[in-house]
Amino acid sequence: MIIDGRKFSQEYTDKVLKPRCEVIKGKYNKTPKLSTILVGKDPASESYRRIREKFFANLCVKSDVLQLPEETTEEELLEIIDKQNNDDSINGILVQLPLPKHMDEDKVIESISLNKDIEGLSPGNVHAWTKSSPNLIPATALGVLALLKHYKIPLHGKHAVVVGRSMIVGKPVAHLLLREHATVTICHSRSKPLEKYTREADILVAAVGRPHLIRKGMVKEDVVLIDVGVNFEDGKLMGDVDFDDLKDDVAYISPVPGGSGPATVCMLASNLLLAFELKQAKDDLNLQKCIREYYADYEAKGDKNPCI
Ligand code: NAP
Repeated sequence: MIIDGRKFSQEYTDKVLKPRCEVIKGKYNKTPKLSTILVGKDPASESYRRIREKFFANLCVKSDVLQLPEETTEEELLEIIDKQNNDDSINGILVQLPLPKHMDEDKVIESISLNKDIEGLSPGNVHAWTKSSPNLIPATALGVLALLKHYKIPLHGKHAVVVGRSMIVGKPVAHLLLREHATVTICHSRSKPLEKYTREADILVAAVGRPHLIRKGMVKEDVVLIDVGVNFEDGKLMGDVDFDDLKDDVAYISPVPGGSGPATVCMLASNLLLAFELKQAKDDLNLQKCIREYYADYEAKGDKNPCI
């Protein structure tokens, strides 16, 4: 069965994002705003930006993109982030990774204010998601879980193997799967042979960035495959999983494009609405807790936010 990220995205938008936008419009008469900062050119980042812009255009959110040249210094970038941290009209700041080699990614991410860290990567947010307390969580990881939930794939007690251990995808996916009571194995470039681990997986999440990495013979027949990889080969977009090789031999498989990408964009929008609502809740800690808990449930149930 194909895990259709576009169909999920449509449903999540209609049932969750649009109703939440209506509440925001009616109650606050303000527009949540995302600021994306891109330094230099990266084909995967470009593709992600285009998809995101198209998606946001149909929602109650404003999305600005600041494209900086490759030669931008770290100091210049930190100054820009500082200004945006203090700009009341901006609710979320997304610095697109990877950054050029001359920049310290950790330092840059740490400079984003906790409440505007829409990718959930600053230390305070990482502390929250590793402890399973709801807050801003990396959107791709939320998207993977949302797809698994949408297709009602059992996670409790299942063996999930996550290939990739980055802070933006592999590790948060692993933590969210743990939160759902899966038993989780994380693989990386030194996990040899990789197939020894992938063959054990009930659920396999590939988040590497190597085309055709996961092929026939590396997985069980009833595996659920979620492909997060974004690769370009001869100008063609593809994931880490050899889709044509495996699509008839597994239980579920998500394609690239049309799988994890659209789910990520939905969850990014959801994070932006969360950041906006938390800001409006200001000093009301109970309201903030209610909003956080509501957003921690990534299922498209279609209910109205009960908190506001
Ligand atoms: P990353 O930071 O480069 O991490 C890649 C991970 O893969 C690392 O942990 C690395 O291991 C591991 N790895 C590399 N080669 C391997 C191999 N041969 N076998 C097993 N593991 C291997 O990349 P990322 O930012 O996590 O992104 C991963 C992929 O997801 C990329 O294609 C990216 O474009 C894509 N992505 C997609 C979305 C989406 O919405 N669909 C969002 C973000 C990223 P080490 O740690 O040992 O180096």
